[in-house]
Amino acid sequence: MTIEVPCPNCQKKVKWESKSEFRPFCSKRCQLIDLGEWADEGHKISQPVQSHTPMSEEMLDALEDEFLMNNKFFVEPE
Ligand SMILES: [Zn+2]
Repeated sequence: MTIEVPCPNCQKKVKWESKSEFRPFCSKRCQLIDLGEWADEGHKISQPVQSHTPMSEEMLDALEDEFLMNNKFFVEPE
């Protein structure tokens, strides 16, 4: 007997078995979407954006600045 669960993103039935590697999602795409808009925005951050609210852009910018600062600090050679 195979259990089926609805994909949290698109409600498509997903068989709960080892070969369904993205379960409970039907696909990697749905899994990525569910991981959160911020992750998706991160990939687009170098492109012009028009449909975002100013607040989330500012938050993303602040987060990116903070990340870059931390990252530079982290990778800076001795
Ligand atoms: Zn799905």
